[in-house]
Amino acid sequence: MFTTTTPARIDPPMRRLIDTVTPGGQARYLPVRPTPDATVNGCFSNVRAKVARDGGRRLCGWQLWEWPGVLVEAEFHAVWLSPGDEMVEITPKPHGEDRILFVPDERRDYQGEVVDNVRIALHDDQLVQHFIRVSRAIVQVQARNGQPAGPGQVRVPAEQIAPLRQAQHFLGYAIDARLREHDPCPCGSGVRYRQCHGHELELALA
Ligand SMILES: [Zn+2]
Repeated sequence: MFTTTTPARIDPPMRRLIDTVTPGGQARYLPVRPTPDATVNGCFSNVRAKVARDGGRRLCGWQLWEWPGVLVEAEFHAVWLSPGDEMVEITPKPHGEDRILFVPDERRDYQGEVVDNVRIALHDDQLVQHFIRVSRAIVQVQARNGQPAGPGQVRVPAEQIAPLRQAQHFLGYAIDARLREHDPCPCGSGVRYRQCHGHELELALA
């Protein structure tokens, strides 16, 4: 999503995120070694195929992301645990990252449900808060519409999701352009975001 990438280090906000999803969890960097048939959004099916071929088992946990200066994010994820107990990331990355930061979470297993990402804002700004709330709303609409075929393959009526996706993109590009809530709204009205689209979105999300 936008400019999220593998965090360069485990700083205090990242530590707080790790403790939110798996208290006391031990995060570690894993090199990305994709299997030839693996797909970007298909970690669970990638690992299922790998286990069927080579043994070992699935290990669920959280892949950790950072949008530098904006937010940190945890995504429910699976890696392959080899028969020799080595954690291996076999799922390719959308932006070609060659390593991931991963924290195992043995309390959780994947049952085909929609699991939302957990996000923590790095500064208090309405644009970032709205981005996080809109992203959560998208997953809630998806979850209301029944079980997905797999992550990234959710079937939802387009008219329910499209306005939320539009808002998410609008906010994402505004944040990438370093706009803050007191700047003129990106729509070009000349009014501050808070009083313009920020106000509209606040009503829509309520
Ligand atoms: Zn506006």
